[in-house]
Amino acid sequence: MKWETVIGLEVHAELATQSKIFCGCTTAFGGEPNTHVCPVCSGMPGTLPDLNRAVVEYAIRLGLALDFTITKHCKFDRKNYFYPDLPKAYQVSQLYAPICRDGRMEIHTDGKKKTIGIRQIHMEEDAGKLVHDPHAPKGGRTFMDFNRCGVPLLEIVSQPDFRSSAEVIAYLEKLRETLLYLGISDCKMQEGSMRADVNLSVRRPGDELGVRTEMKNLNSFKAIGRAIEYEASRQIAVLESRGKVMQETRRWDDDAGKSFGMRSKENAQDYRYFPEPDLLPLEIDDAWLDRIKANLPELAHEKRERYVRVYGLSESEASVITVHKNISDLFENVAHNSGEPLESAHLITGEIMRLMNDTGTLPEEVRTDANKLSFVISLVLGGAINRNAYKEVVEAVFTKNADPESYIAEKGLMMVSDNTIITEAVTAVLAAHADEAADYRSGKEKVFGFLMGQVMKKLGGTGNPEVTKKTLQELLAQSR
Ligand code: ADP
Ligand code: MG
Ligand code: ZN
Repeated sequence: MKWETVIGLEVHAELATQSKIFCGCTTAFGGEPNTHVCPVCSGMPGTLPDLNRAVVEYAIRLGLALDFTITKHCKFDRKNYFYPDLPKAYQVSQLYAPICRDGRMEIHTDGKKKTIGIRQIHMEEDAGKLVHDPHAPKGGRTFMDFNRCGVPLLEIVSQPDFRSSAEVIAYLEKLRETLLYLGISDCKMQEGSMRADVNLSVRRPGDELGVRTEMKNLNSFKAIGRAIEYEASRQIAVLESRGKVMQETRRWDDDAGKSFGMRSKENAQDYRYFPEPDLLPLEIDDAWLDRIKANLPELAHEKRERYVRVYGLSESEASVITVHKNISDLFENVAHNSGEPLESAHLITGEIMRLMNDTGTLPEEVRTDANKLSFVISLVLGGAINRNAYKEVVEAVFTKNADPESYIAEKGLMMVSDNTIITEAVTAVLAAHADEAADYRSGKEKVFGFLMGQVMKKLGGTGNPEVTKKTLQELLAQSR
């Protein structure tokens, strides 16, 4: 009989608020160690937290987008534990009344739809960062950087509804897309602003849930996929040799391609949670909820639907463009400025995607000026430059933020439609390639493309294709 893998995810997303959750310090990533701190977030005795409203608002945005029930009387709790990255020795979090409960997300894998239940979203504060220096004398030393202390986090806890790594990745991708479109997190996994804990067990289909292990803080989709495959086969091997899976926290070592047991899993009692006495319970009224609902940004799937309906894009173009909010923003700006949504869509899905590929540019890194692109579109549609020149100018704008007007002038890319110049070029080419011209006249029509190419070359690629073609046809017919 086969084994079934059961997975539940706990995802942490750092919020993109300007300031921290309980003080005015910046949430900016990095910085000189211990410069983004104050008495509140460095845990000095006698300080009091002051809740950042934007954190609550962002949590509600995500809750509304994913169909959660919002907890109107919601509270914070203290989770007590000592660790050197947590100067207060407790983390303010939510256990008893998390802000959002019972949401869901629809995912697609292998053409199949599935709904993943999401148990809750709660708000909490991030801890600092420990930097280990293994080369220091006496076996190493550890530095503490509190800049990240108090950066707001949402923890999004799923039901154990996943059955494969493909489902997990599909969920994480859609969750990231949603967080980005809602503008509430930058989701940079490499900077730790989105990280996932994977809870995994195996069982015979139909049995009760098996004993699970937890792998913490996985920070790339690839590592998550590999960790899941490894851990599922490890547990199956344990069970098939009549052993027992221990409930424990394991560390995934992506270089080694293995997970290692770290500690037996603690439970809620171990943390001595109690209601946070320094913060009042939150009352979330309908007026506030309605206001957030009314200002909810458009999500990726809503954009896709609108692009097809309003602009007449194909489904596939619409989904390429919504791959990242940065790209759909670029598209919307170019479409709006140029008034040419279809041409703008072709530009993004064609040239811009090709250039991103060639230069290894990620969607979030694209900084191309929408005004310049819409100007270049107006030039090609207005007949001032031809398609070859169009591609060249777009590339110059993309790679070096060139100014289209001066670039075109400098490179002489304005389209030549002037009959005298084109006639001159055609005459010269026909004289230089008299044999091919004769071939054409005796019925070898294929030669036309070659002659056309020669004329274009002579015109530096800037000939108006229609005028050039017509002139060539006329001159070939005339001197027959
Ligand atoms: P804890 O309080 O220890 O973090 P929770 O009950 O909150 O445990 O569950 C944490 C995550 O583990 C949730 O995403 C849940 O879906 C998942 N989970 C719980 N039990 C199992 C199991 N037996 N197998 C796989 N995942 C599980
Ligand atoms: Mg947990
Ligand atoms: Zn502070």
